[in-house]
Amino acid sequence: MATDTLSPPSATGPAITLVDVVKGFGGATDAAAVRGVDLSIGEGEFFSLLGPSGCGKTTTLRMIAGFEEPTGGQILLHGRDMVGVPANKRDINMVFQSYALFPHLSVADNVAFGLRRKRVPKDEIRDRVEKILRTVELTDKADRRPRQLSGGQQQRVALARALVNRPRALLLDEPLGALDLKLRQSMQLELKRIQREVGITFVYVTHDQAEALTMSDRIAVMNRGLVEQVGPPQDVYERPATAFVAGFIGTSNLIGGRLTSVDAQAGTGVLDLGDGQRVTVPLTGSRPAPQADALPGPPGAGALVELTVRPEKITLTAGPADTASRLRGTVREVVYLGTSTSYTVDTAMGAEMTVFQPNDGTASVTPARGDTVWLSWATAHSYLLTTAPIPAATAAAPGSLTPR
Ligand code: ATP
Repeated sequence: MATDTLSPPSATGPAITLVDVVKGFGGATDAAAVRGVDLSIGEGEFFSLLGPSGCGKTTTLRMIAGFEEPTGGQILLHGRDMVGVPANKRDINMVFQSYALFPHLSVADNVAFGLRRKRVPKDEIRDRVEKILRTVELTDKADRRPRQLSGGQQQRVALARALVNRPRALLLDEPLGALDLKLRQSMQLELKRIQREVGITFVYVTHDQAEALTMSDRIAVMNRGLVEQVGPPQDVYERPATAFVAGFIGTSNLIGGRLTSVDAQAGTGVLDLGDGQRVTVPLTGSRPAPQADALPGPPGAGALVELTVRPEKITLTAGPADTASRLRGTVREVVYLGTSTSYTVDTAMGAEMTVFQPNDGTASVTPARGDTVWLSWATAHSYLLTTAPIPAATAAAPGSLTPR
């Protein structure tokens, strides 16, 4: 197709749009690598595709780049349909985990390589290379060969080489995967700084949830070829939409059961578990926008629900606290983690719960294995999950917990 795909888009529209994108590699449709993905990525956004190995992240990125053609759906870059547009006409660049630098060329020549091939005037090449090396803080390494650089520095050269082309968007496929943990963490902050400085759209593929939480403006959590939730880091962590998201991002406790009562005015439901134990969950207003549509409406009394609560939101006490959610249990495991202690508690109703208590002297109890404790948390920290209906045969009795 024509090179006019390089012309400026409308200033207001999204940078990248995916509409019901499907990619099969020749197998049955239900085994497709990507099974109907809708995304809208804003101009200048740091957007991450996060998910376990094989969930379709790389395939999605490669379709945006133009290295793979979708088998269905539409991909728009800056408002233009990309069907049939080759990768080199898409005004985007891709950075891979393997840096693929030329070993015999200096850092500056590696960065200048693409511009020379495009016959950009010499003076302009010099200016652009100098400027981008300043951005990635490698000015003093301009004359070195790649083998004289650390892994993090080599990755910054690869980044500079992509950015010097001034793409409208940069696609990054696990670019920090080969670095050790400490270097990876400092490069995460560095990458975020560079992205802010150059102001272009970054689409970042990773299976590392901490990495995605650290860097992204928004995250799409993928599972088996589908996007389960899109939102800012705080949303996907604090308000996971599905059991998969809750489990994949951090540690979470899942509680399933039948609502014993609903307070329509307060918009909450209660699982009354007897013996002073109960769990209260907001039924409305806690759901991020896309998932709100997936819910048929707030569940009523008697409905089977699944909810989640994060371990650090739970407080341990010796007796029942005056909170909307509280459960009794026996401590099975205590693990000291430095800044916090992790408790595994078998609740009286059968569900296993994890609780993190900070080691800052504020804990009201520091129980040992075998001790009886009460777990309590505020209503706002219970989140209703979007789940497939539980088959009747395995459904829990009213007011009981389903162990997870
Ligand atoms: P990882 O983190 O391991 O790279 P991913 O989430 O990026 O995983 P993809 O590489 O997109 O996953 O792969 C998704 C699915 O598509 C996998 O089951 C994979 O085996 C399959 N797949 C990917 N590329 C091809 C191909 N060229 N031919 C056939 N199947 C493929």
